Parts: sequence; C-alpha cells; structure tokens
Amino acid sequence: MRDANYLTNMKKRVIYADHAATTPLSEAALEAMKPYLETEYGNPSAIYSAARAPKKAVAEARKRIAAVIGSLPEEIYFTSCGTESDNWAIKGTAFRFIGQKKRIITSCVEHHAVLHSCAFLEKLGFEVIYLPVNTKGMIPADVLLEAMNDNTILASVILANNEIGTIEDIQTLVEAAHQRHILFHTDAVQAVGHIPVNVNELGVDFMSASAHKFGGPKGVGFLYKRKNVELEPFMCGGSQESGQRAGTENVAGIVGMAAALTEAASHMVENEKYLNKLVERFKSNIQSFGLDCVYNGTNNRIPGSISISFRGVEGEMLLHRLDLKGIFVSTGSACNSESIELSHVIKAISVPDEYAKGTIRITLGLENTLDDVDCLVSGLNEILSVK
Ligand code: PLP
Repeated sequence: MRDANYLTNMKKRVIYADHAATTPLSEAALEAMKPYLETEYGNPSAIYSAARAPKKAVAEARKRIAAVIGSLPEEIYFTSCGTESDNWAIKGTAFRFIGQKKRIITSCVEHHAVLHSCAFLEKLGFEVIYLPVNTKGMIPADVLLEAMNDNTILASVILANNEIGTIEDIQTLVEAAHQRHILFHTDAVQAVGHIPVNVNELGVDFMSASAHKFGGPKGVGFLYKRKNVELEPFMCGGSQESGQRAGTENVAGIVGMAAALTEAASHMVENEKYLNKLVERFKSNIQSFGLDCVYNGTNNRIPGSISISFRGVEGEMLLHRLDLKGIFVSTGSACNSESIELSHVIKAISVPDEYAKGTIRITLGLENTLDDVDCLVSGLNEILSVK
C-alpha cells in the first residue's frame, strides 16, 4: 500500500523561477479566502442575512485595494483577470466612439491582452498606432506626442514589461496625453504588489491588475477607473459593480486578492531588498562562469526579474533542459512560451541577432533562495558547456 503522502513525497525539489507567469498563493490570501469557500457561500447580491458577510467582505476588499493604490473604493471594479481589465479599458473606451474611426495609441511591447484588443478594434475601423521603443524598451514622451492627433481617444502603455521587466515613465506619458485631453490606460499587471503604484501620482484614468501576479488566486483582477471617466460596460447582465461589470462576484477570489495585495504592499521595501540580493548573486555567478550573454531592459525594473540572452543558443532548448533539472523559467511571456517565434518584445528592442534567440526570462520570487540561484546558474552553465 502507498501511504497517503505518496505523491507529495515523490515530488522532487523544484526551483520555480517564473513568478511573472504566476505566483504561489500567499498564506494570508489562502486563510482569508477559506470562509468564503467553506461556509460563507451566499451570493452578495441577495437580500437575506446569509448574503451579509460575503457582501461586507467584497466591500472591505475594495477599500483595502483602494488604500494600496491611492484610489477611492468606488474607483475599483472587480474583474476575472488582467486580460479582462485590459480588454474592458480599451474596448470599453473605443465602443463610445463606434463608427467614428478614432485613433488609439499603444506600444509595440504590450502584453497580447492589449495588442489583440487593439487588433480587434482595427477590424472595426479604429486606427491604432503602435509606438516603437528604444533598445532598453522605453517609450520617450516625444514619440507619444508625435503620434497624437485630434482624433485620438486613448493611449495605453504598459507600466512594467512582462518580458523584460522595464518600468516605463508612465507619469510623463500621462502628462503628454492629458495635454491633448486623451485618456490614458496602463497595464500594471506586473507592477501592482511589486513596486509602489499610486494612481494619483501616475495620473492614469484606467489601470489593470491581476491577483495571481502578487500572491493572490488566479481568475480575479481589477480595473481602476477614475471617477467621472466614462467607460462602456463590457460584461452585460446584472447590476453588480455599480452596473458596470455584470456577473456574480468571485467573493473568495476578491478577498484573497485584497489580502495578498495588502501583504505585498506592507513588505514591499524588504521584499525588493531580498530580491535584489538574489539578482546580484545571479549576475555575479554568471560572470564567474564567463557565460557569453547580454541583459535586456533598464536598471529601473521589477524586483527579481532578469531577461538574459545567451549567444548562439535557443531559449526553448535552455527552457526544456532546465525543466529536466526541475528548474522552471520562461522564454517570453507565459502566454507564448510554446512559440518558437522570437517574441515581439525581444524583436522590438533589437537584441543583436546572435543573442536574440537565446533569450530566457527568469523571475525570482520570495520563496527562492541564494541556493536556488546557485543551482540555476550551475544548471545553465552545464547546459551551455555541452550544447
Ligand atoms: N498584462 C500583463 C503585463 C501580463 O503579464 C499578463 C499576464 O501574464 C496579463 C496582462 C494577463 O493577466 P491575466 O493572466 O490575469 O489574464
């Protein structure tokens, strides 16, 4: 007979270094969610007493999230994920101008949730301008200024890049857009919970976030929408979320998201310090092995994130060989990690040809240790020495 822990016991030790794809659920989130998965299952929209606790929990979560990002609670709309938030901000703005051939500006290093929403709108007759970036992945404000015309309704630029970790100067871009009375959306899915994000300091009109990127559960996110800014509802149905986003609330998910975000925000400084230490160790190990590589993106980046390109190899090969060693990294964003096509972000920042295909993304998290980093770099060194 196998004992009940058979599966757990046979699990080999793994090194998970793909936190930009998703993070493990934090203990705080799990504990906060439990009552709403077990006993408090009432529908928050109901009017009997069993609905009171879930309704209160959703309201409380909204306040806690608002406190972290500096918004009003009523400016937070719960969604099913970051993808939905991006779709809603972009299409919901465009749908107010249907048939008017308006212009939307975005960048060529956005997540597919933004790029594919824009491509969809192009099919409906909207004009979309995809701003180029410099070799560090940054969008200078003058590039945005040049792209804006009187027909422009929205600019959408990612706050922290999911592939190369670069943090854009959103504040300056927002100022440029607002000079022309153009609304501004930022996809902050990789930033919220990792770096200080305050919607008033940024000045944005819309901001997308997703719980599973900061220790919350999968399948829940939120869209920040500045008060009095108009947006067409995306999900039609009941009157949840002030009639702006129909659908019974994912109560446990929402509560878990608020708990994870509160925890991440209250430990941000020490978390960053710890992750920086891991990244420094990674870089010094790479250097001591003398591996031929280039780092992508800016120094001002998401803590724990590394985008590195090795000369003359394929990132796919590195990913699979590391996988055999129980080490998980990514070659691009999680959503296109099966594609052997060079990622649109790596193309956009013009990584030199001999390095570009050998790009991997390593995103370290709080449960990683210095020992994990040593194993990861030794693993890379072994693979690269016998390639
Ligand atoms: N935007 C960015 C920058 C992302 O990294 C991701 C996920 O990888 C998304 C949007 C989509 O978020 P979700 O997985 O919650 O749909």
